[in-house]
Amino acid sequence: MPDFKGPLSSKLPRAGTTIFTIMSALASEHKAINLSQGFPDFEVSSELINLVYEKMKNGQNQYAPMPGIQLLREIISKKVKKLYSAAYDPATEITVTAGGTQAIFTAILSVIKEGDEVILFDPAYDCYAPAIELAGGIPVSLQLKPPSFSIDWNEVKRTINQRTRMIMINTPHNPTGSILTARDMMQLEKLTKQTDILILSDEVYEHIIFDGYEHQSVMRFPELVKRSFVVFSFGKTFHATGWKCGYILAPSKLMAEFRKVHQFNVFSVNTPLQFALADFMSDEITYTGIEAMYARKRDYFLTLMKPSRFKPLDCHGSYFLLFDYSKISNEKDTDFAKRLTVEHGVASIPVSVFYKNPPDKKLLRFCFAKKDETLKAAAERLCKV
Ligand code: GLN
Repeated sequence: MPDFKGPLSSKLPRAGTTIFTIMSALASEHKAINLSQGFPDFEVSSELINLVYEKMKNGQNQYAPMPGIQLLREIISKKVKKLYSAAYDPATEITVTAGGTQAIFTAILSVIKEGDEVILFDPAYDCYAPAIELAGGIPVSLQLKPPSFSIDWNEVKRTINQRTRMIMINTPHNPTGSILTARDMMQLEKLTKQTDILILSDEVYEHIIFDGYEHQSVMRFPELVKRSFVVFSFGKTFHATGWKCGYILAPSKLMAEFRKVHQFNVFSVNTPLQFALADFMSDEITYTGIEAMYARKRDYFLTLMKPSRFKPLDCHGSYFLLFDYSKISNEKDTDFAKRLTVEHGVASIPVSVFYKNPPDKKLLRFCFAKKDETLKAAAERLCKV
């Protein structure tokens, strides 16, 4: 078709196609094992699928209420009460979203204004900074400190100023697999206590945490919970990333602003899924049970990778593992990830893409949310590199 000839200045001039799309396409083009984009290659529970089918057959096919169906919001409220002792009102403080990314985007759009600064920590999930920029805000990127990828709270203290409107955190962390501790949360509490700073806490991997650690949700901390948007994802927990369904919690004043935006860009979310999820989640083992399964997969992949020249970094949560490849190559991670896909048949994600100013590190992210046979086949190839 003839292209648009008029002037068009991009609202996201630096953004290209996301690394997830690029690496998954490259994996498929070269028939490589895809450990790049984070999605499970095993099936959703057949019980959950049957529930969705049942809800569709029973006529649950029209618009859900704007904030999500009441039953699901009630289940979510009970869940967070039990796990984190937090009291959220399903009527005014919980909204079902079209996945975690939409929840993040809408939260930012609803409260960030022109010139507002938002502190985020690199490596940061790739949708954070563009969402801030589209809202007119200014992303202020600090770096997590390797090898543990922890937050330097003194640096945060020095960075906070009159224009700081929000701090974004993510635990368990994508892409590093690090987690925030209770001490981290207390530091955040201390720094924000006397301020109007908001927090956006991305906790989509809340149930994928290992080694006896407890998930330190902002919800456990009274000073944090009253200023926080907290984001979750059914896709991560129920191995159904393609369903694009999640939820967000916030005190009612914040949630009212969130819903003003949500009603105009999404309105409401897939109805039969919501009814099915509400039924399915009435048994809490459906979500608390995934931790052990993922811990075993992490350990299995680590054991298989032991003979390789890739060196693993600590991973206490999420379904991602970072590996250092400096013993193998001096190439840039973006080049090496491509070559690994094309020549060795395993796709991964180069970590530098999650940085504003990438340090010179040789790190790749591998997703271990895969069948044992997939992990085995991938490790066999990687051990030969
Ligand atoms: N969250 C997924 C990951 O980190 C990717 C989601 C997407 O492709 N946008 O790999």
